[in-house]
Amino acid sequence: MSETNNKNEGRMEAIVSLCKRRGFIFPGSEIYGGLAGTYDYGPLGVALKKNIQASWYKKFVEDRDDIFPIDAAILMNPKAWEASGHVSGFSDPLVECVKCHNRFRADHIEIIDGVQHCPNDNGILGASRQFNMMFKTQIGATEDPTSITYLRPETAGGMFVNFKNVIDSLHPKLPFGLAQTGKAFRNEIAPRDFVFRMREFEQMEIEYFCHESKWEEVFESLRTDFNSWLISLGLSKELIHEVEIGEKDRAFYSKRTIDFEFDFPIGQKELAGLAYRTDYDLTQHSEFSKTDLSYFDEESKERFIPHCIEPSIGVERAFLAVLSSAYKEEVVGEETRTVLSFVPSIAPIQIAVLPLSKKEELSIPAKEIVKTLKKIARVQYDETQSIGKRYRRQDEIGTPYCVTVDFDTLTDKAVTVRDRDTMLQERVKIVDLDNYLLEKLS
Ligand code: ATP
Repeated sequence: MSETNNKNEGRMEAIVSLCKRRGFIFPGSEIYGGLAGTYDYGPLGVALKKNIQASWYKKFVEDRDDIFPIDAAILMNPKAWEASGHVSGFSDPLVECVKCHNRFRADHIEIIDGVQHCPNDNGILGASRQFNMMFKTQIGATEDPTSITYLRPETAGGMFVNFKNVIDSLHPKLPFGLAQTGKAFRNEIAPRDFVFRMREFEQMEIEYFCHESKWEEVFESLRTDFNSWLISLGLSKELIHEVEIGEKDRAFYSKRTIDFEFDFPIGQKELAGLAYRTDYDLTQHSEFSKTDLSYFDEESKERFIPHCIEPSIGVERAFLAVLSSAYKEEVVGEETRTVLSFVPSIAPIQIAVLPLSKKEELSIPAKEIVKTLKKIARVQYDETQSIGKRYRRQDEIGTPYCVTVDFDTLTDKAVTVRDRDTMLQERVKIVDLDNYLLEKLS
């Protein structure tokens, strides 16, 4: 067995094509010609996305005692976006081609001899201007400036505005964090690279609050926890790069930022960010809302505005990193097989049960096995086409184990379990099957 297309050439195209062919991700509104910057998840994509989110939730919320979930509304009072600085400053530099009038993000285009050229027709690009990326919308039936609000460009805001609600209801002691997953919207000037840069996407964010004196130790522990979570998704260590962001490239309120960059097929790019946001957000929201967002420490009798560290990641970038790590083409004999080598915990389907024939004498016991295995795993039953084709199909959607029910099963009460990665097969008694697979999947 040897590997073929695991280099970057054509890899992104191969992944995009597999996503469509097997029902992971489709272009948004495709039958109407699409809508730039939007994608829709298909059945397997939904499963993979949910499993990635569940693994984040387990690691950072369920397995800890100090991080609590929030699920705030997407629409917020517009004053919250004034307070956070998004109304005045959430913008990217935009340039327009004087010939074709296509628009681009100025910081994505090389400057040659002091001039930027249009990637479309090589025309000269005009002077850059700031373009606010928030989607405006209108609340209620009247169309006047007071009815304007925005689709949230990040989930963080909902956690800052609920800081006091959590303190007053749960009474957590500092340090503690709030965690939220949900949709975010950015009117990106140039959405591109599949789901890497979209206009509607999902984020998984944590706002972790502490006393100013503790920010460095919190930052360090979130950094290592975040890194180990990325590795638990099956991302190889060597492909993750922690990049220290220099002062001039950091947001003005951040005193330290690390980007977790990843070797995507499109190059080394930001997968996630970890930022020390100081007390900027709670201070701003205190001022704009005229609500005291300070914290009183019973032990030290000190009242202060907590400082905040934020690990933030886009679900789709995590999804793309997982897919591009897992995607392999291998030459097996005369054929090439495509495999998604997902770690079992996030694989959309963990076990496929395949009767060798559609005949009832095999399909009935196979369906019984499905019923039992569904208690321990995500299971799919498949009886169509030849067994070889079914193995290839399961390899391509990343199913770690296939259980084949054949005519010998009727007498020896055993099935064949095939391992996706090694393709080795083992005969296992049906009575032992759930324990055997449970161990393999853990
Ligand atoms: P970039 O520099 O790539 O535009 P950013 O620094 O603006 O990203 P943040 O504001 O830090 O991104 O957002 C946190 C995370 O949300 C990012 O690390 C990324 O995973 C994700 N994200 C941001 N913008 C997009 C987008 N347009 N499409 C998909 N994911 C995104």
